This record gives sequence, C-alpha cells and structure tokens, in this order.
Amino acid sequence: MILSRRLRSLLLYVLCLSTFGTIVSAQVKPGRDPNQSIDQDYTNKIREYTTAPYFNSPLTDYLPASPDVPTPKAVLGDVAGAPGKLPYAEDVYKYMRMLERASPRVKVFTIGTTEEGREMIAVAIASEQLISKLDENRARLAKLADPRTINMDEAEADRLVAASFPVYYITGTIHSPETGSPTALMELAYRLVVDNSAYVKSIRDSVVTLITPVVEVDGRNRMVDVYNWHLAHPNENWPQLIYWGHYVAHDNNRDAIGLSLKLTRNVLNTYLQWKPQVLHDLHESVPYLYDNTIGDGPYNAWVDPILTDEWQMIGWNNVSEMTKFGMPGVFAHGNFDTWSPGYLMFIAATHNGISRLYETFGNAGADTVERTLSPSEYQRTWYRQNPPLPKAKWSQRNNNNYQQTALLTSLYYFGNNSKLFLKNFYLKSKRSIDKPKNEGPAAYVFPGDDVRAGNQAELLRTLQAQGVEISRSTAPFTVAIKKKAGSAPAARPSPGASPAPAPKTDDRTFPAGSYIVRMDQPYSRIADALLDYQYWAPNDPQTDIYDDTAWTMGELANVEVVRVVDTKVLQAPMERITGDVRSRGGMVNNGSVYLINHNADNALATLRYRLKDVEMDAAEEPFEAAGRKFNRGSFIIRKAAAGDELRRVANELGVQVYAVADAPSVKTHPVRAARIAVMHTWLNTQDEGWYRLGLDQLQVPFAYISTQDVSRDPNLKSKYDVILFAPVSLGRGPQAIISGMPMYGNPLPWKKTQLTPNLGNIDETDDMRPGLGWSGLQNLQKFVKDGGLFITVDDTTDFAVNYGFTAGVGLSRSSRLRAVGVILRTKTVDSASPIAYGYGDSLAMYCSNGPIYSINNGVGGRGRPQGRATGRGTPDDPDTVQGRPPTELPEPPPRVEPWEAPPVQDEQRRNAIGLIPPSQRPRVVVRYADSRELFVSGLLDGGDEIAQRPAIIDVPSGNGHVLLFSTNPFWRGQTKGSYFLVFNAIMNWDNLNAGRKLAEK
Ligand SMILES: [Zn+2]
Repeated sequence: MILSRRLRSLLLYVLCLSTFGTIVSAQVKPGRDPNQSIDQDYTNKIREYTTAPYFNSPLTDYLPASPDVPTPKAVLGDVAGAPGKLPYAEDVYKYMRMLERASPRVKVFTIGTTEEGREMIAVAIASEQLISKLDENRARLAKLADPRTINMDEAEADRLVAASFPVYYITGTIHSPETGSPTALMELAYRLVVDNSAYVKSIRDSVVTLITPVVEVDGRNRMVDVYNWHLAHPNENWPQLIYWGHYVAHDNNRDAIGLSLKLTRNVLNTYLQWKPQVLHDLHESVPYLYDNTIGDGPYNAWVDPILTDEWQMIGWNNVSEMTKFGMPGVFAHGNFDTWSPGYLMFIAATHNGISRLYETFGNAGADTVERTLSPSEYQRTWYRQNPPLPKAKWSQRNNNNYQQTALLTSLYYFGNNSKLFLKNFYLKSKRSIDKPKNEGPAAYVFPGDDVRAGNQAELLRTLQAQGVEISRSTAPFTVAIKKKAGSAPAARPSPGASPAPAPKTDDRTFPAGSYIVRMDQPYSRIADALLDYQYWAPNDPQTDIYDDTAWTMGELANVEVVRVVDTKVLQAPMERITGDVRSRGGMVNNGSVYLINHNADNALATLRYRLKDVEMDAAEEPFEAAGRKFNRGSFIIRKAAAGDELRRVANELGVQVYAVADAPSVKTHPVRAARIAVMHTWLNTQDEGWYRLGLDQLQVPFAYISTQDVSRDPNLKSKYDVILFAPVSLGRGPQAIISGMPMYGNPLPWKKTQLTPNLGNIDETDDMRPGLGWSGLQNLQKFVKDGGLFITVDDTTDFAVNYGFTAGVGLSRSSRLRAVGVILRTKTVDSASPIAYGYGDSLAMYCSNGPIYSINNGVGGRGRPQGRATGRGTPDDPDTVQGRPPTELPEPPPRVEPWEAPPVQDEQRRNAIGLIPPSQRPRVVVRYADSRELFVSGLLDGGDEIAQRPAIIDVPSGNGHVLLFSTNPFWRGQTKGSYFLVFNAIMNWDNLNAGRKLAEK
C-alpha cells in the first residue's frame, strides 16, 4: 500500500517533469486568447495612456472582459495607471475584496496593522483548484521548509515537490513616492483571475501569486494626499513627502535586520507562515526596468550559492523576454551591491527563498510628463544593450505596463520551472540544517552570565522573530573556541626541530543557562548572517557602496556572542525555549532601600519613566552591597513605599532589584525622568525617526517639536530639560538648518485638511519652508545657558560647533577615511562621567564617516604642538643656528593624546581673553580606539584619521551642557547597545559634571 502510493507519486513526479518539459519546448505565445472577448473601452484607454507602442507588451496591451469580475475601473473610475488617479490603500483593498467576492480564485487576508493602525493585506490568487487546497499545500511547503520533519528523506522530498505548487509573494510601494505598484497590482490581480490566454492560465494553474499591494500604508495615504493637493493646486509647488511611514522614510527598506517596523514584522510573519519561494519587492527609481536582483558584488557572504544561481536564472529570463517584446531599457546587474541583509526582499534570501527587486520608472505621482535622462541612464553599457531613450514622454500607465509585463514573465517562468524551484527550496533548507558539518559554525553561544541580561534577551527575541530557534543549556558545558588574535605568540621553531603546532583553540566553559543558537536548523542562515562579523576589503573593486557594510548584532547590542565551530556544542545539555526569551526580573532580599545595578540595559530607562514620580539616586562611585558589586551610576531608591510597584515593574521589565536595610555610603545625585523634546527640521525626518522609534519602544515620553516651534519660543527651558537633535543628513551644511527651504514660490503646508486628511498627524505647519532662523538659534542658546541639555549627533554636531555652542571644540570632515556604515571600537576616557554609567572600558559603535573632533582649552585655541622645523640633524636633534653658541631650549610641552586638549601655555595666560575656565572646558567621555583596535566590522579604510579622536564630548555651556556624538547611538533599531549613552545623559542632565576632575588652571 505504502509502496504503491510512493510509486504512484514517483510516477506523477516523472509525469510532471515531462509535462514541464513539453510546456517549455512548446513556448506558449504570450498574448491574448482570441476566443476571449476583451473589454474594449478599457483596452482603448490603455492605448491612450501608453505614450508609445514600445512601452507596452502583448501581455498588457489589452484587458480581457469578464461578465462577473469587476475591473479596476470599478474603484478607480478609470483604468490602472490613468493620469491623475492615485488610489488610497483602502481603495486598493476595496477592489481586492471585490475580486474576492466575484471569484473563487481570490482570497484576501489581513496580515496586521501599521504604526498608525491601518490594515495591511495579502491577496492570494490562483486557479480555484489551487486556492481550495491552500492549507494542504502549505503543510507540504512547511515540510520542505524544514527537512527535519521528513528526516531529510530525499525521496519524500521529491514526493512533496511533485505534489506541491509554489507561492510567489509580491510586495508593492514600500517607498511612498514610488506610486505605481498599487494600480499595477490591482490590474495584475484582475488578469490572473480572468485572462484565459494559455500564458496566464499556465501561471494560474501552477503558482499561487500572493500580493501585498501596499507595504507602507501610512506613507501611501500621505502620498496620495500630497498628490491630490498638487492636482488641486496645478500651478503651485507641492510639499515634499516629509513623512513616509510614522517613523522613517526609505529606511523602511533597511529594517530586515532590526525588525523595528510593523511593516517588516507583518511581511516577515506572512513569509514565515506561507513559506513562499520568492519575495519580490517593487520599487521605482530607475528608467525603465532594472531587475536589481542579480545586482553587483560583493554578494552577501551568508546566502546559499544555489540562491545566487537562481537570481541569474530568473533575472536573465526577465531581461531576455522583455527584450524580445521590444521594450527598451530593461536590464539586470547595474550598481546595486548585494551585501546588506537589511532590505525587505532579503527576508527571502536569508530564509531559503529567493529575493527579488524591480526598480521601474515612476513620476512620483500620476502625471504624464516629458522625462529627460542623464547620460549615465541612457548610455549603452555591457549589461544594458537596449538602454532607455534619452528623452521620452512618460506616464504612470507606462510604468504599470512594465511592472505587470515583467511580473507576468517572471510568474510564467517560475510556474514552468516550479518543480526545480521547489526542489531548490528544499535543498537550501536542507543545506541550512547541514551548516554545522559543512561550512559551520555549529552554533552561536550567548553566555548565561552576560552582565546585560536584558539586552541579551532583547537580541534573542529579535532572532526568534526571524523564526530562529533558541535553546538554553541546562548544565555547564565546555567547547573549543577560536583563540583571540594575538593571544598566543607564534612559536619560533629551533633549527632542525619540527615545531609543535600551537593550538589554535582554547577550551571555554559556559555556565548553565547559556543560550545556544544551533546552526542545524532551517533558519540558521539568518542567525549566522546577523551574528557574524563582516569584512569588506578596502581594495574591493566595488567603490559605489550601496549601504551599511556592517551590522554585527552582538557588538551593536553590547552583548557577548561567541561563534562556536566545535560541533561538540550541539551535544551540550540543553532545552529548546518555547515562548519569548525574557531576562529574569523582580526583587530579592528584604529591606526598605532598593538597589538596581547599572548595566546599561535599556529596560532601566523604561523603569525610570514608568516610576517617574519615585525619587531615585545614582551612585557616583561603585559600591558593594547585598554581597554584590554595583557599578557607578547604580540606582538607589530610598522610598520604602515604592517597593510593591517597583517589584511589579521590575518583574515585568526583567530588571533585578536588591532590597537592603541601609543605603550604601556613597556619593549620589538624583536620576531624573527628564522632560525631553525631540527637535526636527522640515527638511528631512529620516534619521531622527529612529530616535523617536527607540524612545517609543522603551516607553520614554517626549515632546515632538520642530525648528519652527523653537524659533517662536524664548522660554524653552520652562518646558524641557533636554532637547535632542538627531542627524538631519542633508549634506548641505548646518546653515540649511537655520535657513530652511528657499522662500521662492508659494507656501508649502503640511496639515490635516479635508483635502489632505492623512497629513499633520505627526506634526504640522502652514508652511514647511522656514527653518530655525536666528531667533531659533538664540532661543536654543538661551535654553543651554539656562541649564538645559542639548544633544547633537553627527551632522547636527556640525551645527552646534559652527554656531558657537561648544567653545573649545574643533570639527573637520574626513579626507581619506572610509568608514561606510561600519562598526568601530571606542574607549571610555572618563568613566566617572554619568554618560558612561553602566558601560565598560570599551564599546563597539556604529559610525558613518562621523565628524573628526579636536579639543582645546582656548577659544580659537592654538594648534596642536608640531614636530621640529626644517634644519640640521636627525628628526629628534635640535637645529643649530650657525655663528653663535647653541641656546637652551624650553622644556617641551607634555605629550598630548589625540583626544586631549594641549595644555595651557604661559603665553595664553598673559591676557586670557580666550582661555576657557576649567569648569567650562570640553570633557571627552569616549574616544575612538587606536588604529590597531579601531576596526570591528564592515569597511574601514584610512582609519588613522579618526583613530583616538574624541567620539563623545560633553561641553559645559553656561548652566547647561551640549553633547556631541561623532558616532550614531540610535541607528535603524540595530544599535541598542549604545542607546544608554543617550539615556544616561538625559537622566543625569542636571548632574553631568559629576565625577569631573577639573584642571587647576
Ligand atoms: Zn524604492
């Protein structure tokens, strides 16, 4: 019985293979079925809105008619891609649900909501037969996705492959100004449901097409508002889309590492649930269709080579088919390096699927306009033999033709080769499980005694969200781990003796309770890609680097992660964790004074704000109590009555509280739930969004104000203790913050109105153009003089330094340094500064060619001491003046480190107008490590330019402080290990001078 069933399925498999063979050789002709009538009105409109015949294809130059199924016109009032028509997400959903009601070939699923509560959907389309078997098909795909469930049995895998059909997942408009895909996907859905041509029918019968027509729903609706405003004001400039999603703009497509945004989580969960073989994301920035899947090197080093072959196969089929249609400007390769796993589509690449991405050509709206390209866009090159035209009238309809034609050719190709790709899907999953015995490593271990248990748990939860299984050791275990570089001197062999090879590994014992991320699991690849180190060679031929070069998550979380190659680790006694990883919290011992060790776990910031009315103190020195060591900055709570609430919150947040009878005798100052304002410009809100997101995630409340608000408010200090000014990333210099946008033309409102109901919810203004202005600058300076703390990062430190906030700080930009989204090592210079509380003497931080600081004790201070002048002798000889006896030279000034200010010279004190009083001098808290130790992960070239320079400077000013970060502590939800540098500054804002040693003069 069993045998015969297996035999039958094998037979079926052989049959399928041969059928697939015939289909390919028969070459179904793309184009309409002459026996199916077409919707003539709709077809006429397609032709009218397409600006030249060669911007369309036989697949999309007509629309088949249906007596029951409504066309997109039912919702749009015109055809997909019509000029002036840009539907809101709700209208797109309305149409998809009309399709679902009209046809058994469609099912619509809710896949979650956005930050602002809007729905996200996925639409499944296939023949009614396939749609009726979605669940059993999914059960088969789940087995192929996890070959452990079939004991890695190849024959069983083949049987499953034969019985299964693949899922091809398409996602539209993640980038809100890229407006074409919702209408393209509405029409594509219609075609897949209705079209009876052999070509489309073959897709419908062999593939489940899964569509999320709008990924960034909040941003889509704002974009439609802006476009409608433009239609209503035809002769005016229109406001730029300052907010796409609730937090960030194009960086929503860099979140597949940090998983901070709802849209990433919703698409990821859909991917994990449906087990699609492809995730294909639609973008619009390049004429006319750039299939960037194949891209350029370097490729991500952790993906399976089977995948990179698949990129080539599908990508080149795409180019080749559309070339045959005569459509200009379709190409692959291009300049997109395929290194970072942060892109949404890469969810598939790191989970044994196939990632794909199109850039088509959009007009950022639905206007039809003449577009003139740059030579780099229209010139022929080896990978673009039929380039775009230098000049062409371009319409949203053209864009929709390209998007649909390309997707249809891909779906057709994929359907025809579905068994091959399903088998590959199985093989990639199997090879992921085989990782420990092939390329390794065997596991990553998170030691059970990590001092930052909270941040450790948070990182592990991010891995769990990726579908990664986590185990915990139930007893100590010992494995060999790689020796740290430089830990053993190379043995010098004596002549004639064969040298005993020095061991390359050390044994290390991990305590019970250590977390183990086994690599013999189907999603080992994503864990490996995220936890490993990155190395981008400075001489890599790729000089056009697309994005960050490093993301090593353990380093960025300030959590220890050990890569273990020794397969013995897999035999360690352990149990699989069910449910989320949590750090243990609560209260131990008895007493009426409560102590919390400061370990820079982010939960401490949440705790401080959750108990905002409870007085807490910070210890200015380390101390011992309850038989434990407490770090500098540890919290001391003397209010016995707060015990119950504290116990509850600590329990919930995974924070350990120690109750003792008496407070330790150590100097303290208050730790405050400071009043925070996050200040933004109306020029760009991309990078500051990651700050808002981090604060919101940790439930740290803040006011959100614009530079325009600041320009009108001379009493900022009465409302706020801290103003946080995150990077603006303009590349236009700090004066743009003052001046804002040019004041030509009409005002640019960003406001909720009847015409624009989705604008203004985050912040609003009647006119986006004015900047901070001189009054705003004055108000900010007064805020600091009045005692406020002004926090600046990267390019907003340029603003602070250039506009006189920071006496004694010099700033330059790199000339040779290439630190491209890299992780660098920093060293704590002043561990007594409250900003460094909870940190050790070294921290890896994200840096993107950060500013290079120097400090001085004088305003407009003298340069750093130089070496000797040209003259006689060797470099360390004195020069000698000829014809007179040599003179005694003054004692050379003491050696000054690059992060220190040169000592004050006697000459400076004679009339000390520019000499900064000791208490007002810049205080360097953290510096970059020296050249040898600086590099942690990514690409670093010319590092000596920034090595040892200050990285974080606390500058006293009047009664307040200005904080400068050359690194970026809040980046893309990935840098959770450096968040607390900012929280420390915030919570100690009125005691930042604690522990400061002042110079005598
Ligand atoms: Zn894009």
